[in-house]
Amino acid sequence: MKCRKRIAVLGSTGSIGESTFRVLSAFPERFEVTALAANSRIDRLADQARCLSARLAVTADPARRDELARRLPPGVEADAGPDAMIRLVEREDVDLVLCAVVGTGGLLPVLAALRAGKTVALASKEVLVMAGELVRRELAASPGGRLLPVDSEHSAIFQCLDGRRPDEIAGLILTASGGAFRTATREEIAAADWQRALAHPTWKMGPKVTIDSASLMNKALELVEARHLFDVPPEKLKVLIHPQSVVHSMVELADGALLAQLSQPDMRFAIQYALTYPERTAGDLPKLSFSQGLTLQFEEPDRKRFPSLDFAEEAMRRGGTMPAVMNAANEVAVEKFHRGEIAFPAIWSIIEKTMAAHRVEPQESLSQILEADRAARSFAAQLFRK
Ligand code: MG
Repeated sequence: MKCRKRIAVLGSTGSIGESTFRVLSAFPERFEVTALAANSRIDRLADQARCLSARLAVTADPARRDELARRLPPGVEADAGPDAMIRLVEREDVDLVLCAVVGTGGLLPVLAALRAGKTVALASKEVLVMAGELVRRELAASPGGRLLPVDSEHSAIFQCLDGRRPDEIAGLILTASGGAFRTATREEIAAADWQRALAHPTWKMGPKVTIDSASLMNKALELVEARHLFDVPPEKLKVLIHPQSVVHSMVELADGALLAQLSQPDMRFAIQYALTYPERTAGDLPKLSFSQGLTLQFEEPDRKRFPSLDFAEEAMRRGGTMPAVMNAANEVAVEKFHRGEIAFPAIWSIIEKTMAAHRVEPQESLSQILEADRAARSFAAQLFRK
């Protein structure tokens, strides 16, 4: 029998984490689950550990270690606290780390995993947005380390590129559903509340990324992510609105041919490919149906209603700490919107003002990036304060 790939999942109880759980459950003959880590949903984490026969479960909250240990079946280790995820990714019995931690918490574990020579399947785009240059240097210095995309757009591009030479690539086209406000007027966007912004037409995802889809900040973050994952200059990156979310992204080749990857909008496609890479496995994922006909629309993004892509281009042009600042300002703004403190369009104002106030520094160290992140958060927090 073939050796099973030994997997660790960071963020196992979130939206991507649950989809990963389903993929791992479907292929017990392929995967051995070494460890699962989650933030605060201890009950669910313990359930997952039991179902997948994991050896270790980790919670980010050090105060809940005993509570977690009590809920786990005998023989399953419990660990807790901020360093527990680092210890987890460095374990000998882990081959692949899938990182789906929401927000910026994935940065340190991902760097540690690459340094330890692991394959990282990356769903947490913030890692590359904040520290793309640093991650690339870590990759270059680490013989075994490897990064595989889990974001659906980047997985699509990765599948289309399939070993092509850089000089054959004319451009990468990221598709965007357009989110909850694709057809909304400025007035409707200004009046929208949290629930309205969460009404995503095609994908079922966690709240942060759904709000980011509505503002197109998700695509802004994904542009920076693509720039680092595929080492392409910003001018070769393009975004197209594609409301059906069936074409997950495209690659334009030097001769003008376009390659695209299509599937139902279900994150398990990208997760399964990252986990089984370089192989493909038959499974029970939902197939596209053409029996009723299938209409695919594409349109240019409206940058007047949605200025997010301009921020991404500015952040890529300035480089260094600027993408981390864009990301931090967005996270603070989304939280403010969630608390009802600001109207939706103020998300963009907060990002714009925070970026304008930032003095860019090169990405020389992690502490520099974290300091820029911290300063941007405190700057953004005092904007629009009542
Ligand atoms: Mg995506």
